[in-house]
Amino acid sequence: MTAKPTDTVITVRSPANGQIIDSVPQMDAATVVAVIGELRVAQAGWADLSPRARVTHLLRYRDWLLDNEFQLAEMLQRETGKPWAEANLEIPYIVDAINYYARTAPGLLADRTPPRHGMIAATKRQLLIQRPYPVVGVITPWNFPLGLSLLDAVPALLAGAAVVVKPSEFTPLTVAAAVAGWKQVGAPRVLECVIGAGETGSAVVANVDYIQFTGSTSTGKAIAHAAAERLIPCGLELGGKDAMIVLDDADVARAANAAVWGAMANSGQMCTSVERVYVEAGVYEEFIGRVVERLKALRVGEDDQQFRYDVGPLATDAQLAIVCEHVDDALARGAEALVGGVRVEGSGFFQPTLLVDVDHTMLCMQRETFGPMLPVMKVQDEDEAVRLANDSDYGLSATVFSGNRARAERIARRLEAGAVNINDVFGNLFTLSLPQGGWKQSGMGHRNGADAVLKYSRPQAIVSARVLPQREVTWYPYTAIRGAIVHRVGRLLGARDLLRRFS
Ligand code: ADP
Repeated sequence: MTAKPTDTVITVRSPANGQIIDSVPQMDAATVVAVIGELRVAQAGWADLSPRARVTHLLRYRDWLLDNEFQLAEMLQRETGKPWAEANLEIPYIVDAINYYARTAPGLLADRTPPRHGMIAATKRQLLIQRPYPVVGVITPWNFPLGLSLLDAVPALLAGAAVVVKPSEFTPLTVAAAVAGWKQVGAPRVLECVIGAGETGSAVVANVDYIQFTGSTSTGKAIAHAAAERLIPCGLELGGKDAMIVLDDADVARAANAAVWGAMANSGQMCTSVERVYVEAGVYEEFIGRVVERLKALRVGEDDQQFRYDVGPLATDAQLAIVCEHVDDALARGAEALVGGVRVEGSGFFQPTLLVDVDHTMLCMQRETFGPMLPVMKVQDEDEAVRLANDSDYGLSATVFSGNRARAERIARRLEAGAVNINDVFGNLFTLSLPQGGWKQSGMGHRNGADAVLKYSRPQAIVSARVLPQREVTWYPYTAIRGAIVHRVGRLLGARDLLRRFS
């Protein structure tokens, strides 16, 4: 069904119907080294531009994305198999992110003179400047190929870095087309795309100065090891097993809608998908009834730009196998599928599935499923819900439904997750000024937030005398004499006491 890297070529197939879409050359390590070498040369001039000049290029690129929105969405749909409505989300999302970063980056990157502390600093001019990492590598998965690639590439470019993107070998086409657009707007050659599977990705990690990765926890750990070996920083956005808690004072209809959308959007292939739900006993029956109704109404199939389907195929054969394994495991251990529970015979689609009578011994409650499956557990009270929600290796995000915001916020403060949405799902994906990152096995560092641009740069401290020229003599014999005088005078004046009180 899906992409197959050979030694030299990657064949991209539609996950919806298995047809070949295109074949693209796979880049070897030597090619990656050459591409990064060219980026390194171009980056020097890019970093010399003012942040506002870089913003101008990004805004031109934003307009190019809008001008080419239809063609890009069409390609994205073909290589991911997403319904047309979902294929059309990524470009507006990125356009919005460019607008946000274009507005905030110049202020974040401006030189600063932090307040001085201490007697020696009092004589100094303290300048704090931000210098970009020369080349940033962005490695991305197949679930949101364009959105995730550009969401990291844009702030890195604004910081003054050059960027090499390595999209997933399953979905390389849209990202390659979007990077070609960067050249068409006449911007400096500081954005490139390299195509290939894990080996190409390893070559990126081995040659860049900062690596930003989105993908599985196991690959993320391998990348963290490789980055540590080179002592380069890395940002990792990894898997999730997001919990939803529905309390007995919640708007149950809204919670049921959110659970279904949260679990089925992108066929459940989102790091932040709702992967498990805990419902207080008082509203459990009503919640289940509404979820059943909603799930049965979903239309599963290959969309054709007519908005006729809601749930697309799994993007890869491997992903389909994981969903089958988790559902079969749950059913074998006593769970019941109130809706779905099987794949659509002979295709890459899986029926939207509701599992009840599940518990934490089952794979579907422990491991990331990344598919159109919703397991729901009844709980006696909020303490049990919080305990079970936190009983996970992952900690990306979570959701709480309650009619009482103070109660929901109290629970949010007890959840071990990088973000908590109250009475909504995915809300934090759109709050770009808040950091988005996972706890525990869900990642390291974050994207977005106040330092989203700064993380791609290094602070440099420049210290000089406040009053120039500096006349004091700095050489060993004189420093020793000066030290002796300061020491004596200090003792006479009780300097320890002064230091304690005024420094
Ligand atoms: P999934 O495709 O299931 O998310 P991965 O996390 O392995 O699985 O893939 C995410 C991205 O990481 C893809 O672009 C893939 O090619 C890349 N990748 C896989 N292995 C490595 C590796 N060892 N080093 C760098 N990148 C890798």
